[in-house]
Amino acid sequence: MAASNVDNDVQTATISKNSAPVEMTEPTRHVSSGRRPSAVHRSRAELTERAKRITEQELISFRARTPKSQALNARAWESMPAGVASSFQYYAPHPVMADRAAGSRIWDMDGNEYVDFNMGFGALFSGHSHPVLAAALHEQIGRGTLFVTPCESNALAAELLKERFGLDLFRFTNSGTEATHDAIRLARAFTGRDRLVKVEGGYHGHHDEVMISMKPSLDEAGPADRPNSVPSTLGIAASLVRDVSVVQYNDPAALERELIKGDVAAFIVEPVMENIGICLPTNDYLTKVREITRRYGTLLIFDEVKTGITAGYGGASGHFGVTPDLLCLAKSIGGGLPVGAFGGRFDVMSQISQGQVLHLGTFNGNPLCSAAVVAVLRDICTPEAIATTIEKNFSMMAALQSVIDVYRLPAHLVQMGAKGCVTFSETPVENYRDYKNTDFDLAYALWIWGINRGILLPPGLDEQWLVSILHSEHDLAHHVEVFESFARELTK
Ligand code: PLP
Repeated sequence: MAASNVDNDVQTATISKNSAPVEMTEPTRHVSSGRRPSAVHRSRAELTERAKRITEQELISFRARTPKSQALNARAWESMPAGVASSFQYYAPHPVMADRAAGSRIWDMDGNEYVDFNMGFGALFSGHSHPVLAAALHEQIGRGTLFVTPCESNALAAELLKERFGLDLFRFTNSGTEATHDAIRLARAFTGRDRLVKVEGGYHGHHDEVMISMKPSLDEAGPADRPNSVPSTLGIAASLVRDVSVVQYNDPAALERELIKGDVAAFIVEPVMENIGICLPTNDYLTKVREITRRYGTLLIFDEVKTGITAGYGGASGHFGVTPDLLCLAKSIGGGLPVGAFGGRFDVMSQISQGQVLHLGTFNGNPLCSAAVVAVLRDICTPEAIATTIEKNFSMMAALQSVIDVYRLPAHLVQMGAKGCVTFSETPVENYRDYKNTDFDLAYALWIWGINRGILLPPGLDEQWLVSILHSEHDLAHHVEVFESFARELTK
Protein backbone atom coordinates (compact mmCIF):
# COMPACT_ATOMS: atom_id res chain seq x y z
CA MET A 1 0.00 0.00 0.00
CA ALA A 2 1.01 3.54 -0.43
CA ALA A 3 -0.74 6.11 1.64
CA SER A 4 -1.66 9.36 0.01
CA ASN A 5 -1.01 11.21 3.23
CA VAL A 6 2.45 11.72 4.56
CA ASP A 7 1.78 10.19 7.96
CA ASN A 8 1.10 7.98 7.13
CA ASP A 9 16.25 -13.19 -0.09
CA VAL A 10 16.81 -15.51 -0.65
CA GLN A 11 18.69 -12.86 1.27
CA THR A 12 17.39 -10.58 4.00
CA ALA A 13 19.48 -8.11 5.87
CA THR A 14 18.73 -5.42 8.37
CA ILE A 15 21.42 -2.88 7.84
CA SER A 16 21.44 -0.79 10.91
CA LYS A 17 24.05 0.53 13.20
CA ASN A 18 21.93 -0.07 16.23
CA SER A 19 19.85 -3.09 15.45
CA ALA A 20 20.74 -6.66 16.07
CA PRO A 21 21.02 -8.63 12.86
CA VAL A 22 17.95 -10.62 12.01
CA GLU A 23 18.29 -14.37 12.12
CA MET A 24 19.07 -15.55 8.67
CA THR A 25 18.69 -18.77 6.85
CA GLU A 26 21.78 -17.62 5.01
CA PRO A 27 24.75 -15.74 6.38
CA THR A 28 24.04 -12.16 7.32
CA ARG A 29 26.24 -9.70 5.59
CA HIS A 30 27.08 -6.65 7.62
CA VAL A 31 27.68 -3.50 5.75
CA SER A 32 30.40 -1.13 6.70
CA SER A 33 31.21 1.99 4.81
CA GLY A 34 34.92 1.94 5.49
CA ARG A 35 34.69 5.74 5.43
CA ARG A 36 35.34 8.10 8.28
CA PRO A 37 32.23 9.65 9.78
CA SER A 38 31.81 13.36 9.11
CA ALA A 39 32.62 15.72 11.93
CA VAL A 40 29.23 17.44 11.81
CA HIS A 41 26.57 16.02 14.04
CA ARG A 42 23.14 17.60 14.14
CA SER A 43 20.44 16.88 16.65
CA ARG A 44 17.28 15.16 15.49
CA ALA A 45 15.28 18.35 16.16
CA GLU A 46 17.68 20.39 14.01
CA LEU A 47 17.45 17.84 11.21
CA THR A 48 13.67 17.80 11.36
CA GLU A 49 13.55 21.59 11.08
CA ARG A 50 15.94 21.51 8.13
CA ALA A 51 13.87 18.78 6.51
CA LYS A 52 10.77 20.94 6.71
CA ARG A 53 12.62 23.82 5.02
CA ILE A 54 13.94 21.48 2.30
CA THR A 55 10.39 20.26 1.69
CA GLU A 56 9.10 23.83 1.28
CA GLN A 57 11.79 24.59 -1.32
CA GLU A 58 11.36 21.29 -3.10
CA LEU A 59 7.59 21.70 -3.38
CA ILE A 60 8.21 24.99 -5.19
CA SER A 61 10.53 23.23 -7.67
CA PHE A 62 8.12 20.31 -8.00
CA ARG A 63 5.27 22.63 -9.02
CA ALA A 64 7.55 24.44 -11.49
CA ARG A 65 8.70 21.16 -13.07
CA THR A 66 5.26 19.58 -13.40
CA PRO A 67 2.74 22.14 -14.79
CA LYS A 68 1.22 19.62 -17.19
CA SER A 69 0.76 17.08 -14.42
CA GLN A 70 -0.94 19.77 -12.37
CA ALA A 71 -3.25 20.77 -15.22
CA LEU A 72 -4.18 17.20 -16.07
CA ASN A 73 -4.85 16.34 -12.45
CA ALA A 74 -7.04 19.45 -12.15
CA ARG A 75 -8.98 18.33 -15.23
CA ALA A 76 -9.34 14.79 -13.88
CA TRP A 77 -10.82 16.11 -10.61
CA GLU A 78 -13.86 17.03 -12.72
CA SER A 79 -14.52 13.39 -13.61
CA MET A 80 -12.91 11.33 -10.82
CA PRO A 81 -12.69 11.90 -7.05
CA ALA A 82 -9.27 13.47 -6.44
CA GLY A 83 -8.60 13.02 -10.16
CA VAL A 84 -7.25 9.50 -9.68
CA ALA A 85 -8.47 5.94 -10.20
CA SER A 86 -7.43 4.72 -6.73
CA SER A 87 -7.02 6.91 -3.66
CA PHE A 88 -3.49 5.55 -3.19
CA GLN A 89 -2.52 7.35 -6.40
CA TYR A 90 -3.22 10.83 -5.05
CA TYR A 91 -0.72 12.92 -3.18
CA ALA A 92 -0.50 16.67 -2.66
CA PRO A 93 0.03 19.02 -4.37
CA HIS A 94 -0.70 16.73 -7.33
CA PRO A 95 0.60 13.37 -8.48
CA VAL A 96 3.11 13.04 -11.28
CA MET A 97 1.01 12.15 -14.31
CA ALA A 98 2.64 9.36 -16.31
CA ASP A 99 3.14 9.52 -20.03
CA ARG A 100 5.05 6.30 -20.70
CA ALA A 101 7.48 3.84 -19.17
CA ALA A 102 10.10 1.37 -20.36
CA GLY A 103 12.57 -0.85 -18.54
CA SER A 104 13.50 0.92 -15.30
CA ARG A 105 12.35 4.36 -16.46
CA ILE A 106 9.14 6.36 -16.43
CA TRP A 107 8.40 9.73 -18.07
CA ASP A 108 5.80 12.22 -16.94
CA MET A 109 3.56 14.52 -19.02
CA ASP A 110 6.10 17.31 -18.66
CA GLY A 111 8.84 15.19 -20.20
CA ASN A 112 10.69 14.59 -16.91
CA GLU A 113 12.46 11.26 -16.79
CA TYR A 114 12.71 9.21 -13.61
CA VAL A 115 14.41 6.03 -12.54
CA ASP A 116 11.32 4.26 -11.29
CA PHE A 117 11.81 2.66 -7.89
CA ASN A 118 8.11 2.64 -7.16
CA MET A 119 7.62 0.06 -9.92
CA GLY A 120 3.87 -0.18 -9.60
CA PHE A 121 3.94 -0.42 -5.78
CA GLY A 122 6.33 -3.31 -6.24
CA ALA A 123 4.32 -5.11 -8.94
CA LEU A 124 6.89 -4.61 -11.68
CA PHE A 125 9.68 -6.92 -10.59
CA SER A 126 10.12 -7.85 -14.25
CA GLY A 127 10.47 -4.14 -15.13
CA HIS A 128 8.28 -2.01 -17.37
CA SER A 129 7.21 -3.97 -20.45
CA HIS A 130 9.99 -6.56 -20.36
CA PRO A 131 10.51 -7.64 -23.99
CA VAL A 132 9.72 -11.28 -23.15
CA LEU A 133 6.50 -10.25 -21.46
CA ALA A 134 5.59 -7.90 -24.29
CA ALA A 135 6.09 -10.68 -26.84
CA ALA A 136 3.94 -13.10 -24.82
CA LEU A 137 1.17 -10.52 -24.54
CA HIS A 138 1.29 -9.64 -28.24
CA GLU A 139 1.01 -13.27 -29.10
CA GLN A 140 -1.93 -13.74 -26.77
CA ILE A 141 -3.75 -10.65 -28.05
CA GLY A 142 -3.61 -12.19 -31.50
CA ARG A 143 -5.28 -15.30 -30.10
CA GLY A 144 -7.99 -13.67 -27.98
CA THR A 145 -8.23 -11.63 -24.81
CA LEU A 146 -11.01 -13.42 -22.94
CA PHE A 147 -12.43 -16.93 -23.23
CA VAL A 148 -14.34 -17.54 -19.95
CA THR A 149 -13.60 -21.17 -20.60
CA PRO A 150 -10.30 -22.59 -19.35
CA CYS A 151 -7.12 -22.49 -21.40
CA GLU A 152 -3.75 -24.19 -21.09
CA SER A 153 -1.95 -21.17 -19.66
CA ASN A 154 -4.29 -21.25 -16.62
CA ALA A 155 -3.01 -24.70 -15.72
CA LEU A 156 0.58 -23.81 -16.57
CA ALA A 157 0.48 -20.70 -14.38
CA ALA A 158 -0.98 -22.71 -11.47
CA GLU A 159 1.69 -25.42 -11.92
CA LEU A 160 4.42 -22.78 -11.77
CA LEU A 161 2.97 -21.38 -8.53
CA LYS A 162 2.69 -24.85 -7.00
CA GLU A 163 6.30 -25.53 -7.80
CA ARG A 164 7.54 -22.24 -6.31
CA PHE A 165 5.44 -22.09 -3.19
CA GLY A 166 5.08 -25.78 -2.40
CA LEU A 167 1.30 -25.66 -1.94
CA ASP A 168 -1.29 -28.05 -3.37
CA LEU A 169 -3.81 -26.00 -5.31
CA PHE A 170 -4.16 -22.43 -6.61
CA ARG A 171 -6.94 -20.30 -8.03
CA PHE A 172 -6.60 -16.95 -9.84
CA THR A 173 -8.18 -13.59 -9.10
CA ASN A 174 -7.85 -10.09 -10.54
CA SER A 175 -6.13 -8.46 -7.58
CA GLY A 176 -4.57 -8.96 -4.19
CA THR A 177 -7.77 -7.72 -2.58
CA GLU A 178 -9.74 -10.54 -4.14
CA ALA A 179 -7.08 -13.06 -3.15
CA THR A 180 -7.26 -12.15 0.56
CA HIS A 181 -11.05 -11.94 0.40
CA ASP A 182 -11.35 -15.45 -1.03
CA ALA A 183 -8.75 -16.89 1.33
CA ILE A 184 -10.64 -15.56 4.34
CA ARG A 185 -13.90 -17.04 3.09
CA LEU A 186 -12.22 -20.42 2.65
CA ALA A 187 -10.85 -20.26 6.19
CA ARG A 188 -14.26 -19.43 7.64
CA ALA A 189 -15.88 -22.24 5.72
CA PHE A 190 -13.20 -24.73 6.75
CA THR A 191 -13.23 -23.90 10.44
CA GLY A 192 -16.92 -23.01 10.81
CA ARG A 193 -15.77 -19.91 12.71
CA ASP A 194 -16.33 -16.23 11.95
CA ARG A 195 -13.60 -14.35 13.80
CA LEU A 196 -10.47 -13.04 12.16
CA VAL A 197 -7.23 -11.71 13.64
CA LYS A 198 -5.00 -9.29 11.80
CA VAL A 199 -1.96 -7.18 12.57
CA GLU A 200 -2.12 -3.49 13.42
CA GLY A 201 -0.76 -1.47 10.50
CA GLY A 202 -1.28 -4.40 8.14
CA TYR A 203 -2.87 -3.77 4.75
CA HIS A 204 -4.52 -6.66 2.94
CA GLY A 205 -6.56 -4.91 0.27
CA HIS A 206 -9.74 -2.87 0.20
CA HIS A 207 -12.48 -5.27 1.22
CA ASP A 208 -14.28 -4.35 4.41
CA GLU A 209 -13.08 -6.99 6.85
CA VAL A 210 -9.41 -6.17 6.40
CA MET A 211 -9.80 -2.38 6.28
CA ILE A 212 -9.52 -2.36 10.04
CA SER A 213 -6.58 -0.78 11.87
CA MET A 214 -4.67 -0.23 8.64
CA LYS A 215 -3.06 2.94 9.97
CA PRO A 216 -5.04 3.90 13.07
CA SER A 217 -4.27 7.18 14.79
CA LEU A 218 -2.60 6.59 18.12
CA ASP A 219 -5.53 8.38 19.79
CA GLU A 220 -7.85 5.63 18.65
CA ALA A 221 -5.50 2.67 18.58
CA GLY A 222 -5.65 1.80 22.28
CA PRO A 223 -2.92 0.06 24.27
CA ALA A 224 -0.17 -1.62 22.26
CA ASP A 225 -0.66 -5.01 23.90
CA ARG A 226 -4.45 -4.95 23.33
CA PRO A 227 -5.09 -2.68 20.37
CA ASN A 228 -8.59 -1.54 19.43
CA SER A 229 -10.08 -2.60 16.12
CA VAL A 230 -10.42 0.71 14.31
CA PRO A 231 -12.27 0.92 11.00
CA SER A 232 -10.02 2.61 8.42
CA THR A 233 -12.85 4.14 6.42
CA LEU A 234 -16.44 5.11 6.89
CA GLY A 235 -18.87 2.60 5.45
CA ILE A 236 -17.78 -0.51 7.34
CA ALA A 237 -20.55 -2.30 9.25
CA ALA A 238 -20.05 -2.27 13.03
CA SER A 239 -21.01 -5.97 13.14
CA LEU A 240 -18.05 -6.76 10.93
CA VAL A 241 -15.58 -4.79 13.05
CA ARG A 242 -16.64 -6.84 16.10
CA ASP A 243 -15.41 -10.01 14.41
CA VAL A 244 -11.91 -8.71 13.71
CA SER A 245 -9.27 -8.48 16.46
CA VAL A 246 -5.95 -6.75 16.09
CA VAL A 247 -2.52 -7.64 17.47
CA GLN A 248 0.96 -6.21 17.07
CA TYR A 249 3.35 -7.84 14.64
CA ASN A 250 6.19 -9.75 16.35
CA ASP A 251 3.98 -10.39 19.40
CA PRO A 252 3.21 -14.10 19.55
CA ALA A 253 1.85 -13.88 23.10
CA ALA A 254 -0.85 -11.43 22.00
CA LEU A 255 -1.78 -13.74 19.14
CA GLU A 256 -2.11 -16.67 21.50
CA ARG A 257 -4.38 -14.64 23.78
CA GLU A 258 -6.70 -13.97 20.85
CA LEU A 259 -6.80 -17.57 19.66
CA ILE A 260 -7.09 -19.33 22.98
CA LYS A 261 -10.90 -19.52 22.94
CA GLY A 262 -10.75 -21.56 19.75
CA ASP A 263 -13.18 -19.32 17.85
CA VAL A 264 -10.87 -17.67 15.31
CA ALA A 265 -11.07 -18.81 11.68
CA ALA A 266 -7.87 -17.23 10.45
CA PHE A 267 -4.86 -15.12 11.30
CA ILE A 268 -3.90 -13.07 8.26
CA VAL A 269 -0.41 -11.57 8.23
CA GLU A 270 2.28 -10.47 5.81
CA PRO A 271 5.29 -12.68 6.66
CA VAL A 272 7.34 -9.50 6.28
CA MET A 273 5.30 -6.34 6.73
CA GLU A 274 5.75 -4.17 3.68
CA ASN A 275 3.21 -1.49 4.37
CA ILE A 276 5.14 0.17 7.21
CA GLY A 277 8.41 0.41 5.34
CA ILE A 278 9.86 -3.08 5.75
CA CYS A 279 9.31 -4.73 9.10
CA LEU A 280 11.06 -8.07 9.53
CA PRO A 281 10.03 -10.93 11.79
CA THR A 282 12.17 -11.21 14.92
CA ASN A 283 12.87 -14.08 17.33
CA ASP A 284 11.37 -16.80 15.16
CA TYR A 285 8.06 -14.96 15.06
CA LEU A 286 6.79 -16.80 11.97
CA THR A 287 7.62 -20.23 13.39
CA LYS A 288 5.84 -19.33 16.60
CA VAL A 289 2.85 -18.02 14.67
CA ARG A 290 2.74 -21.31 12.77
CA GLU A 291 2.75 -23.31 16.00
CA ILE A 292 0.16 -21.17 17.76
CA THR A 293 -2.32 -21.13 14.87
CA ARG A 294 -2.02 -24.89 14.54
CA ARG A 295 -2.55 -25.38 18.26
CA TYR A 296 -5.89 -23.58 18.19
CA GLY A 297 -7.19 -24.83 14.84
CA THR A 298 -6.89 -21.36 13.27
CA LEU A 299 -5.80 -21.22 9.64
CA LEU A 300 -2.68 -19.21 8.91
CA ILE A 301 -2.98 -16.97 5.86
CA PHE A 302 0.24 -15.44 4.56
CA ASP A 303 -0.42 -12.36 2.50
CA GLU A 304 2.49 -12.31 0.05
CA VAL A 305 0.97 -9.75 -2.28
CA LYS A 306 3.89 -7.40 -1.53
CA THR A 307 6.67 -9.85 -0.75
CA GLY A 308 5.92 -12.60 -3.31
CA ILE A 309 8.73 -13.32 -5.72
CA THR A 310 10.50 -10.05 -4.90
CA ALA A 311 11.47 -11.67 -1.57
CA GLY A 312 13.11 -14.64 -3.25
CA TYR A 313 12.27 -17.54 -5.53
CA GLY A 314 9.69 -19.07 -3.16
CA GLY A 315 8.58 -15.80 -1.57
CA ALA A 316 9.06 -14.83 2.05
CA SER A 317 7.47 -18.10 3.18
CA GLY A 318 10.09 -20.01 1.23
CA HIS A 319 12.84 -17.80 2.59
CA PHE A 320 11.82 -18.24 6.22
CA GLY A 321 10.82 -21.86 5.73
CA VAL A 322 7.32 -21.46 7.18
CA THR A 323 4.39 -22.88 5.23
CA PRO A 324 0.98 -21.27 5.73
CA ASP A 325 -2.38 -22.98 5.23
CA LEU A 326 -3.31 -20.38 2.63
CA LEU A 327 -1.15 -17.97 0.64
CA CYS A 328 -2.20 -14.83 -1.24
CA LEU A 329 -0.28 -13.43 -4.19
CA ALA A 330 -0.68 -10.63 -6.75
CA LYS A 331 1.55 -7.76 -7.93
CA SER A 332 4.95 -9.24 -8.84
CA ILE A 333 3.59 -12.49 -10.33
CA GLY A 334 1.78 -10.57 -13.09
CA GLY A 335 4.36 -8.20 -14.58
CA GLY A 336 1.92 -5.26 -14.29
CA LEU A 337 -1.26 -7.03 -15.34
CA PRO A 338 -4.20 -7.19 -12.94
CA VAL A 339 -3.83 -10.67 -11.58
CA GLY A 340 -3.82 -12.26 -8.15
CA ALA A 341 -3.89 -15.80 -6.83
CA PHE A 342 -4.57 -17.70 -3.67
CA GLY A 343 -3.48 -21.20 -2.91
CA GLY A 344 -3.09 -23.64 -0.09
CA ARG A 345 -3.60 -27.02 1.46
CA PHE A 346 -5.52 -29.59 -0.53
CA ASP A 347 -8.25 -30.09 2.07
CA VAL A 348 -8.88 -26.34 2.43
CA MET A 349 -8.79 -25.55 -1.30
CA SER A 350 -10.87 -28.62 -2.14
CA GLN A 351 -13.87 -26.94 -0.59
CA ILE A 352 -14.03 -25.13 -3.93
CA SER A 353 -13.84 -28.32 -6.03
CA GLN A 354 -16.60 -29.82 -3.89
CA GLY A 355 -18.84 -26.79 -4.39
CA GLN A 356 -18.93 -25.95 -0.68
CA VAL A 357 -17.21 -22.61 -1.24
CA LEU A 358 -17.84 -20.52 -4.31
CA HIS A 359 -15.01 -18.73 -6.00
CA LEU A 360 -16.22 -16.79 -9.03
CA GLY A 361 -15.18 -14.06 -11.45
CA THR A 362 -15.58 -13.32 -15.16
CA PHE A 363 -11.98 -12.33 -15.56
CA ASN A 364 -10.33 -14.98 -13.37
CA GLY A 365 -7.79 -16.80 -15.47
CA ASN A 366 -8.00 -14.17 -18.20
CA PRO A 367 -5.64 -15.47 -20.89
CA LEU A 368 -3.64 -12.25 -21.09
CA CYS A 369 -3.03 -12.36 -17.35
CA SER A 370 -2.17 -16.04 -17.43
CA ALA A 371 0.26 -15.45 -20.31
CA ALA A 372 1.86 -12.74 -18.19
CA VAL A 373 2.17 -15.01 -15.13
CA VAL A 374 3.79 -17.71 -17.25
CA ALA A 375 6.24 -15.27 -18.84
CA VAL A 376 7.16 -13.77 -15.46
CA LEU A 377 7.49 -16.99 -13.47
CA ARG A 378 8.96 -19.28 -16.12
CA ASP A 379 10.95 -17.02 -18.43
CA ILE A 380 11.87 -13.75 -16.72
CA CYS A 381 12.11 -14.16 -12.95
CA THR A 382 14.27 -17.26 -13.00
CA PRO A 383 16.21 -18.25 -9.88
CA GLU A 384 19.38 -16.77 -11.42
CA ALA A 385 17.72 -13.48 -12.42
CA ILE A 386 16.20 -13.10 -8.97
CA ALA A 387 19.49 -13.82 -7.21
CA THR A 388 21.38 -11.32 -9.41
CA THR A 389 18.79 -8.62 -8.78
CA ILE A 390 18.82 -9.16 -5.02
CA GLU A 391 22.60 -8.95 -5.08
CA LYS A 392 22.40 -5.62 -6.95
CA ASN A 393 20.02 -4.33 -4.31
CA PHE A 394 22.41 -5.44 -1.59
CA SER A 395 25.32 -3.59 -3.21
CA MET A 396 23.26 -0.44 -3.62
CA MET A 397 22.29 -0.68 0.03
CA ALA A 398 25.91 -0.93 1.06
CA ALA A 399 26.57 2.36 -0.72
CA LEU A 400 23.50 3.95 0.87
CA GLN A 401 24.69 2.75 4.29
CA SER A 402 27.98 4.48 3.64
CA VAL A 403 26.09 7.75 3.17
CA ILE A 404 24.16 7.21 6.40
CA ASP A 405 27.42 6.61 8.26
CA VAL A 406 29.30 9.54 6.77
CA TYR A 407 26.51 12.04 7.37
CA ARG A 408 25.44 10.46 10.66
CA LEU A 409 21.82 10.32 9.65
CA PRO A 410 19.36 9.06 12.27
CA ALA A 411 18.38 6.28 9.94
CA HIS A 412 18.85 2.65 9.09
CA LEU A 413 18.23 0.50 6.05
CA VAL A 414 16.13 -2.61 5.81
CA GLN A 415 16.29 -5.09 2.95
CA MET A 416 14.01 -7.89 1.94
CA GLY A 417 15.16 -9.46 -1.27
CA ALA A 418 14.92 -6.96 -4.12
CA LYS A 419 13.21 -4.36 -1.92
CA GLY A 420 14.62 -1.95 0.57
CA CYS A 421 13.87 1.19 2.50
CA VAL A 422 15.48 3.94 4.49
CA THR A 423 13.80 4.13 7.88
CA PHE A 424 14.36 7.36 9.73
CA SER A 425 14.88 5.95 13.17
CA GLU A 426 18.00 4.65 14.84
CA THR A 427 16.27 1.62 16.29
CA PRO A 428 14.60 -1.12 14.27
CA VAL A 429 10.90 -1.03 13.49
CA GLU A 430 9.33 -4.21 14.87
CA ASN A 431 5.69 -3.22 14.71
CA TYR A 432 3.28 -0.43 13.83
CA ARG A 433 3.91 1.53 17.03
CA ASP A 434 7.65 1.66 16.27
CA TYR A 435 6.84 2.81 12.73
CA LYS A 436 4.74 5.67 14.13
CA ASN A 437 7.85 6.79 15.99
CA THR A 438 9.94 7.23 12.85
CA ASP A 439 10.60 10.69 11.45
CA PHE A 440 8.07 11.41 8.74
CA ASP A 441 9.41 14.90 8.06
CA LEU A 442 12.82 13.52 7.08
CA ALA A 443 11.23 10.77 5.02
CA TYR A 444 8.98 13.17 3.17
CA ALA A 445 11.82 15.59 2.44
CA LEU A 446 13.89 12.73 0.98
CA TRP A 447 10.99 11.61 -1.19
CA ILE A 448 10.29 15.02 -2.72
CA TRP A 449 14.04 15.68 -3.09
CA GLY A 450 14.29 12.46 -5.09
CA ILE A 451 11.41 13.27 -7.41
CA ASN A 452 12.99 16.58 -8.35
CA ARG A 453 16.21 14.76 -9.24
CA GLY A 454 14.86 11.88 -11.26
CA ILE A 455 14.35 9.28 -8.53
CA LEU A 456 10.75 8.17 -8.23
CA LEU A 457 10.11 6.41 -4.96
CA PRO A 458 6.62 5.36 -3.85
CA PRO A 459 4.53 8.26 -2.59
CA GLY A 460 3.60 6.74 0.77
CA LEU A 461 6.31 6.68 3.39
CA ASP A 462 5.04 3.24 4.34
CA GLU A 463 6.37 1.86 1.04
CA GLN A 464 9.79 0.71 -0.11
CA TRP A 465 11.81 0.69 -3.32
CA LEU A 466 11.97 -2.24 -5.68
CA VAL A 467 15.01 -3.03 -7.78
CA SER A 468 13.62 -4.77 -10.83
CA ILE A 469 15.24 -7.24 -13.18
CA LEU A 470 15.72 -4.32 -15.62
CA HIS A 471 17.41 -1.79 -13.31
CA SER A 472 21.00 -1.11 -14.32
CA GLU A 473 24.05 -0.38 -12.19
CA HIS A 474 23.81 3.17 -13.49
CA ASP A 475 20.22 3.48 -12.17
CA LEU A 476 21.31 2.29 -8.76
CA ALA A 477 24.33 4.60 -8.70
CA HIS A 478 22.03 7.51 -9.49
CA HIS A 479 19.88 6.62 -6.49
CA VAL A 480 22.95 6.66 -4.25
CA GLU A 481 24.12 10.02 -5.66
CA VAL A 482 20.75 11.61 -5.05
CA PHE A 483 20.61 10.17 -1.54
CA GLU A 484 24.05 11.58 -0.83
CA SER A 485 23.09 15.01 -2.17
CA PHE A 486 20.08 14.95 0.18
CA ALA A 487 22.22 13.96 3.15
CA ARG A 488 24.65 16.78 2.38
CA GLU A 489 21.89 19.36 2.12
CA LEU A 490 20.22 18.11 5.29
CA THR A 491 23.34 18.22 7.41
CA LYS A 492 25.12 21.30 6.06
N1 PLP B 1 -2.13 -7.27 0.42
C1 PLP B 1 -1.07 -6.47 0.55
C2 PLP B 1 0.02 -6.84 1.52
C3 PLP B 1 -0.95 -5.31 -0.22
O1 PLP B 1 0.09 -4.49 -0.05
C4 PLP B 1 -1.97 -5.02 -1.16
C5 PLP B 1 -1.87 -3.82 -2.00
O2 PLP B 1 -1.02 -2.99 -1.88
C6 PLP B 1 -3.06 -5.88 -1.25
C7 PLP B 1 -3.12 -7.01 -0.45
C8 PLP B 1 -4.16 -5.60 -2.21
O3 PLP B 1 -3.74 -5.83 -3.51
P1 PLP B 1 -4.47 -5.10 -4.71
O4 PLP B 1 -4.09 -3.67 -4.66
O5 PLP B 1 -3.96 -5.83 -5.93
O6 PLP B 1 -5.93 -5.30 -4.52
